[in-house]
Order: sequence, then structure tokens, then C-alpha cells
Amino acid sequence: MNQMNAEKALARLKEGSRRYISSSFNPGNISREIRIETAEHGQHPYAVIVACSDSREIPEDIFTCGIGEIFTIRVAGNVIGENQLGSIEYAVEHLGIELVVVLGHTGCGAVGASLKGETGGHVGSITRDIIQAIGNEKKALEASILNTVYQAHKVKEAFPDVTTVPALYDIHSGEIIWLE
Ligand SMILES: [Zn+2]
Repeated sequence: MNQMNAEKALARLKEGSRRYISSSFNPGNISREIRIETAEHGQHPYAVIVACSDSREIPEDIFTCGIGEIFTIRVAGNVIGENQLGSIEYAVEHLGIELVVVLGHTGCGAVGASLKGETGGHVGSITRDIIQAIGNEKKALEASILNTVYQAHKVKEAFPDVTTVPALYDIHSGEIIWLE
């Protein structure tokens, strides 16, 4: 079972984010040793990260994490649906994780499509949910923040005993704006 509480896990992520800003490669541990250790003795990640699928927002790099550190869920627009809640439930109940970070980002294509009212095709299942979140907001940055807070709220409702924090990743500066 995981031994790192939400407060320590959040501090670790914030420290990882600081290292990322000044790094040109990810110093996270992806060694053969850690691979064998986690394969033979199991995983003990300390946080769930729900991030967008956008190729510029890579959670393991943003937090300078290696193997076995974060339980990552990626979906366009970092939307929370049944599959995401199921993944979080597994992480909470079976891995003992106490912290969930819902990580939106600047320049999000899913949010942009939602602002344009694009609700056709399979993408519509994502944009219709984001439109719920952003209401009449027209500005991209504000809409991304509203969406991230809205999605985090769904996690909070489903898992009230877990600490859930919304945050926004700036794809230009690499910095994270913690929204709570
Ligand atoms: Zn995105």
C-alpha cells in the first residue's frame, strides 16, 4: 500500500515541476533496476494525474517522474467520464493513492473545438461535456480553467475522501498554475 499522503505527494509533484523547468531531459528513474523492482514487487505510485492527450503535455516529464511514480490517465480535454472514474477508483482502492491532479493546459484543442461549438462525430462526447463546463465563456484560457475545475469537481464528488486538485499547465513556459 502507498505510504505517501496527499500533502507529501503534492509537495513531490511541485518539486518535480520545479526541476522540469530547469531541465533539458527527464531525470526520472527509468533504470533496469527500478523496472525489475516494480515488476517483481508491484507499483506504489503516489498520485493520479488526469491530463489531456496533447503531445506537449507529458505528465511524467512535467513532474520529472520515472517508473512507478504516477498513475496517469490521459484523454483529450482531460474530461472525466465513467472510464476515468473507474481508473481513479482502482488507483484509490487498490494502490492507496490519496491525491488526484486534474491537469488542463493552455492551447487545448479540445477546449478550442468546444468554443467553436464542434459537437459532431466521436469528438462530440468530449466537446459536449466541455461546453457544459465553460458555459458562455469565449476566452480560451478562461475556458480551459473552467473546464479543469469542472472536471476536478466530478472527481471530488465521486471520491470525497481523496484530495483532488485542479491545475493548468502552460505549454509555453512549462509552469503549472495550481488552481486551488
Ligand atoms: Zn488539450
